[in-house]
Amino acid sequence: MKSLRKINLASCCAVLSVAAASVHAFAQQRTPPPLPQPPANIAYDLILQNGHVLDDKNHIDAVMDVAIKDGKIAKVAPHIASSDALKTINLNGLYVTPGLIDLHVHVYAGTGERGSYAGDNSVPPDGFTFRVGVTTVVDAGCSGWRNFEDFKDRIIDRSKTRVLAMLNIVGSGMRGDKYENNLSDMDGEATAKMALKYPNVVVGIKTAHYTGPEWTPVEQAVIAGTKANIPVMVDFGNNHPESRPLYDLLTKKLRPGDIYTHMYSGLRNEQDPVTMGPSKAFIDGRKRGIYFDTGTGGGSFKFSLAVPMVKDGFIPDSISTDLHIGSMNGATKDELNVASKMMAIGISLKEVVAEMTSHPAREIKHEELGNLSVGSVADVAVLRLEDGRFGFTDMVNGRLDGTKLLVDEITIKDGKIVYDLNGMEADKWDAPPDPNTIYAYRWTTFAPRIPRPRPSDNERH
Ligand SMILES: [Zn+2]
Repeated sequence: MKSLRKINLASCCAVLSVAAASVHAFAQQRTPPPLPQPPANIAYDLILQNGHVLDDKNHIDAVMDVAIKDGKIAKVAPHIASSDALKTINLNGLYVTPGLIDLHVHVYAGTGERGSYAGDNSVPPDGFTFRVGVTTVVDAGCSGWRNFEDFKDRIIDRSKTRVLAMLNIVGSGMRGDKYENNLSDMDGEATAKMALKYPNVVVGIKTAHYTGPEWTPVEQAVIAGTKANIPVMVDFGNNHPESRPLYDLLTKKLRPGDIYTHMYSGLRNEQDPVTMGPSKAFIDGRKRGIYFDTGTGGGSFKFSLAVPMVKDGFIPDSISTDLHIGSMNGATKDELNVASKMMAIGISLKEVVAEMTSHPAREIKHEELGNLSVGSVADVAVLRLEDGRFGFTDMVNGRLDGTKLLVDEITIKDGKIVYDLNGMEADKWDAPPDPNTIYAYRWTTFAPRIPRPRPSDNERH
């Protein structure tokens, strides 16, 4: 009986390997036909026409046309002729900005670990990015050097969104109190080594949620950040004003160019109790070149701080969500809701766009992103500024009313449309087909309405 089973198994494997070989041969035979090439005299794939361009890096705040070719920004000018492109979209009344960068998110989803940011607390990036104009996210420390490669394989390499990462100084990552308070798993050297192995993906070091009085997490993060030449982002954990004061963090422990997130949380003496404006630690930290990030999250943003501090001129360097399963359904919601909230407090549209584009790009030392310079990757957001009555909330469920809401109409990633709320690039379903539709793969990821013959009667079902 035993030997018979063995034989059956062996022959079964043989059949499987023959089947696999023939599938492989079949796949090799079926190389897809070459894509149709557009006429050489057409200069651009796509023109975004008549939109109000806001490009902080290039100091553009005007109605402009933007031409895209081969996934790159090809030209930005007051007028570019439609006849020069395969496809033109009129964006009259809308804003055109670089694809937005959300500097603080949690996207290490899918491991199945309960109650963990390297698991169930994270969200899959593509579900929450393109629909709000975000083309790049930075995962803020869900993984450490021990599990970063699993995160990369599971999420980073499989997402359409550009996912960059800050490594947690905790080797095991953001997996809960037990891990995040383990001082013996905070190894700056090992963390730097992993960061240097993936220099285009790992863009920072994160320390977060530490409850103890020691400086070890910050010190090890700075060791890693210095070795890998990348910034450190700090969630300063429990407040210990005697043993590790905020003033020392921002004026002594961190380096210029490091990032303080959750800036309006009020949990760690961010606010001056007398003036209600920024604390001396914040003022002196900013003078030294520390960046300040919103990271509004589930419990890290209060109007009682943000309103007086913005009034005092202490605005964010970058607007980020701290997106996770709690914040996305709580006060934070998404990147454009946070931006609209900051506008309701009094920050201008132009400034909030800079805080989601050129500023975060500078903070992570990836200044090739977050702009519409000729030659830059064509990541673009097309935004509508809606007028109406809107309410914005904070971590203690306070509400601030506003009259403007930013809504994403179109998102373009690497030169191709990946989100189109109102089908602005689509032709009407019953209109005669545009002859350029055969080249639609050059400007959109959506199935083009390529003219094809009607199926015969017996093919219909
Ligand atoms: Zn976070």
